[in-house]
Amino acid sequence: MLKRDVVPPPEHLYPAEAWRVIETGYTAKYFGRAETAFALANGYLGVRGTADEGRPALAPGTFVNGFHETWPIVHPEEGYGLAQTGQTMVSVPDATGLKLYVDDEPLFLPVARMQSYQRVLDLRAGTLTRDLVWSTAAGKHVRIRSVRLVSLEFRHLMAVSYEVTVLDHAAPIILNSQLVNRQDVRPPDEPLGRGRRDPRLGRTLGHRVLTCEESADEGLRLLRAYRTANSRMRIAVGVDHVLDCRSPHVITTAPGEDVSEVTFAVDAEPGVPIRVVKYATYHASRSVPPAELLSRSSRALDRAVRNGFEPLLAAQRANLDLFWDRADVQVEITGPSVRTQQAIRWNLFQVAQASWRVEGSGIGAKGLTSQAYDGHYFWDTEIYVLPFLTHTQPRIARNLLRFRHGMLDDARVRARQLSQRGALFPWRTINGQEASANYEAGTAQFHINADIAFALYTYMRVRGDIGFAAEVGAELLVETARLWEDLGFYGHDGRFHLHGVTGPDEYTTVVNDNTYTNLMARLNLTSAAEAVRLLQERFPSDYLALSAKVRLRPEEVVSWEQAASAMHVPYDAERGIHPQDSAFLDLEVWDLQATPRDQFPLLLHHHPLVIYRFQVLKQADIVLAMFLLGDEFSTEQKRRNFDYYDPLTTGDSSLSACVQSIIAAEVGREDKALEYFRYALLMDLADVSGNVSDGVHVASAAGVWMSLVYGFGGLRDFDGEVRFSPCLPRTWDRLAFSVRVAGRQLRVELRHDAERFLLDEGDPLDIMVRGIRHVLALGVPVVTQAPPAPREEDGGTA
Ligand code: BGC
Repeated sequence: MLKRDVVPPPEHLYPAEAWRVIETGYTAKYFGRAETAFALANGYLGVRGTADEGRPALAPGTFVNGFHETWPIVHPEEGYGLAQTGQTMVSVPDATGLKLYVDDEPLFLPVARMQSYQRVLDLRAGTLTRDLVWSTAAGKHVRIRSVRLVSLEFRHLMAVSYEVTVLDHAAPIILNSQLVNRQDVRPPDEPLGRGRRDPRLGRTLGHRVLTCEESADEGLRLLRAYRTANSRMRIAVGVDHVLDCRSPHVITTAPGEDVSEVTFAVDAEPGVPIRVVKYATYHASRSVPPAELLSRSSRALDRAVRNGFEPLLAAQRANLDLFWDRADVQVEITGPSVRTQQAIRWNLFQVAQASWRVEGSGIGAKGLTSQAYDGHYFWDTEIYVLPFLTHTQPRIARNLLRFRHGMLDDARVRARQLSQRGALFPWRTINGQEASANYEAGTAQFHINADIAFALYTYMRVRGDIGFAAEVGAELLVETARLWEDLGFYGHDGRFHLHGVTGPDEYTTVVNDNTYTNLMARLNLTSAAEAVRLLQERFPSDYLALSAKVRLRPEEVVSWEQAASAMHVPYDAERGIHPQDSAFLDLEVWDLQATPRDQFPLLLHHHPLVIYRFQVLKQADIVLAMFLLGDEFSTEQKRRNFDYYDPLTTGDSSLSACVQSIIAAEVGREDKALEYFRYALLMDLADVSGNVSDGVHVASAAGVWMSLVYGFGGLRDFDGEVRFSPCLPRTWDRLAFSVRVAGRQLRVELRHDAERFLLDEGDPLDIMVRGIRHVLALGVPVVTQAPPAPREEDGGTA
């Protein structure tokens, strides 16, 4: 049950188009949203969708993945093993600013005499283009066209082409390009709930974070190396300019530590364009000396200037062609469907932006679109983003899994701090250490271990990449399995129990036997045993190396299997449902129907102890288990569980709607499936959660793909068998997608009168469609037809 309004922005301001997101006018009301919706990123570098001229700006920001400041967490009442060091992604020096003055009149939005305005985020070109004509106070008409990109090809690089033409008169023009080391910019702290700040926002750091260590300017090039105060990380920022101007002009530079400027003063002639291309590079490191970082910046700028702007555009498109070839999902809906198609692509594009060049880092909950959640990496990556990447972009999935593996040493240390064997991954982190100061809804989410393990073996199965087990997989599975075996215990009932854990639902914490956790841990234990055996048989030398490295004893493997088979799975036979945990069903039920809309999200209006006393969910928990581990539940149990938990679920977490949509589709609740899909689809574009100005909800964006492919497409592949039970909504005419399964590439096209499955690449493959086996041979489509199944409820439209 979600009590949220889904009001898309007005059509005349944001018209629907299948491949472009368009803004036809500037309004203060949508300004914050647009700063997020028009943000650009490549997984390494991100900039918010601010105006080129730098103003107005709600929360301008440029972010480099993994580049963070640390600070001491002060617990007013210390406790053993509580997280000690906070981490916050830093807002790095901003190179986007290009201020324009015509006859000394500045251009700053909103402009009173705007003749035309259009801003376009092109999802195939990977560019943000703005075109406007401004009539100055002196009655001169000026056309400004800018194109901004964050390069998908060169991960350290962003570029802006800014072209000004005075259409009908001569005029003195000033173009002032800036590099600004702005400290700790974020939206003003608005009192929320009972006068408290929103805990989901990033932390405002109370000290000067970045200090310039070295600079090396030359001509129109500015080069600066900065260092963070506490984490001692370094970043080099380089900016260069190429002016294309046939009119008389003078260029001056004013270098500074926090604000550096290059100013172009031009005697503009009517109809003669003036174009400045501004290139900016960012290179971050923990250990590289500043001089070396500056040389890297310099070399990157040399190459950018030498190649020019147009080849960057071509490379941008080529990268996105690759992405869309595998990632695109097409829908045709009876009636206008372009808005849905646009929103689907915008969401998938956000995942590309958050991940395309993730190499040696993770994906923040908001990608690189804001500092909210401090830029931390959560389970969002493994459970929400990796399914999409594993099935469409394996290179990125592998990078992310390797990155997690790289955190294993810290996770081992953390397990010791919690008196456990094996490894415990941090609930939220950038640098590998636990950064969650709230242990109840943070560190206690032990399920992160099993989520990572789940993503890992899903990847190995889907890609058919068993060599990955030898490379990193087995070690990670072993250490996570050890944690479960040590954390749990055999009770008087002879069953294996996991006590004192928090499941995915953060409105119920530190409980015994959270069903999701127990089921996921069970799979973690068995898959660790499986991986070790696989290594023993297929990669004996890797097995020996691993055994030596982690001091593996053969009897351990047996004990994991024993714990797995004795794992307690709570079940209430009387009600025919799975309790969320052993005590959940004894709690009082929160009356969500009677809760006023302005009380959501509950976390901003009620003390945690109030929330913890009730049966009320922030997000899908059992329902998520029914999706990830569908074979553990009968169809009847799924229906009953969904019907029980759905009315208790607030959806206060954006991670909920996509999963509820998938299970609603599976259990035949088409109207709910569509309703939740619409929430997830428009989570950001219609600001369903009311906080999109704080960045993209990346997990939900990737969840849109899951709702389409797993939900309406009905794909399940958890046991190595590829199964489809499509449930195309009655109001949809067509759903088409491409997906990698069992090491093969499939193209799927669903219509009501025909479902077409085509093997695009790889050896023949058996698939099950609604329980019937079909053999797919390369290039020969299998066509099936959905039975006219009675649906329980009438559907709506997405
Ligand atoms: C959710 C978590 C999620 C985090 C970051 C929280 O609101 O409850 O499950 O990991 O947001 O997206």
